[in-house]
Amino acid sequence: MKMKVYVTRRIPEIGLKILREYCEVIYRDELAPPTRKELLDNIKDVDAIYCTLNERIDREVIDSSPRLKVVGTMSVGVDHIDIDYATSKGVYIVYTPGVLTETTADLAFALILSTARRVVETDRIIREGKWKLAWAPTMMLGYEVYGKTLGIIGLGRIGAAVARRAKGFRMKILYYDKIRREDLERELEIEFREIDDLLRESDFISIHVPLTNETRHLIGERELRLMKPTAILVNTSRGPVVDEKALVKALREGWIAGAGLDVFEEEPLPPTSPLIEMPNTVLTPHIGSATYDTRNRMAQYAAEGIIKVLKGEEPENLYNREVVKIRPLTKLID
Ligand code: NAP
Repeated sequence: MKMKVYVTRRIPEIGLKILREYCEVIYRDELAPPTRKELLDNIKDVDAIYCTLNERIDREVIDSSPRLKVVGTMSVGVDHIDIDYATSKGVYIVYTPGVLTETTADLAFALILSTARRVVETDRIIREGKWKLAWAPTMMLGYEVYGKTLGIIGLGRIGAAVARRAKGFRMKILYYDKIRREDLERELEIEFREIDDLLRESDFISIHVPLTNETRHLIGERELRLMKPTAILVNTSRGPVVDEKALVKALREGWIAGAGLDVFEEEPLPPTSPLIEMPNTVLTPHIGSATYDTRNRMAQYAAEGIIKVLKGEEPENLYNREVVKIRPLTKLID
């Protein structure tokens, strides 16, 4: 019997091709994610779900899919999946670590530069016909990046990739993480700081922790008040890591100078969000991994992970390795 995979929405062709080679694919060829009902209705007899970060794979979803063996998500973040419950039910979770690291680090650096040098705000001034004076000594001044201090929160794959870029800008690099990374401290000549010290000392702060119970609102009013009034906060991790209400207050009242944000507490960002009216923010719509090459790699990696599990092999991109003890791998396809 062929294994059945439900693909929740349109994905790059390469992922689909891999799945179709081995499985019966129920392909929802739509740009938008499925409604909750659509998702629940379509997974009743599937062996695998291929999803994105916009589908909540929780207890209800897992319980509605009694044959479910593996979930492949086209993301490195897994905060949309109830990992503990999936593991307890023997459901394998495969994800896409590594293949989007450099692309996301590029975007973090783009946000550092564009927020500091007011790239988007001044572009808008030209387009709106408001560039009246050719040049003025005190006009459109921003903040220097070269040689300044960068604080990285979460020195994992993407955090370290941002540090490598910052070295080219001769920045002093500080980091905070759950654990000391002495190998990276030596390789990148970076220094560990407790989070409060990092917030006090940095000119730029770039966030790269996953969203977990511990990191939700890691940056709130207290933390923002510790930052320099000339500092810029960049978030390409997950929106809820920053308390957005507190951030709005900080930007309005000048506790910090600006923010470059790719992720938000609510996505899409509601048009009423005060962040939109602020000149000192650069906002991008969750495009950290959005390049042609990277999305192809993600589509492929998630599909390969699903197929490996169904073949009874342990994929390198398996997130919940403990699941192997709950439901040992068995060969279900050739
Ligand atoms: P990673 O390699 O796992 O790095 C995350 C780092 O944060 C790890 O060093 C981790 O330490 C650390 N960390 C975890 N909890 C922490 C805590 N409570 N306090 C301090 N440090 C903590 O992940 P990655 O590949 O760099 O990706 C990071 C995140 O970026 C993803 O989870 C995802 O949400 C986000 N992301 C966003 C986009 C986008 O489109 N904007 C694209 C890609 C990724 P341990 O390893 O010890 O847990």
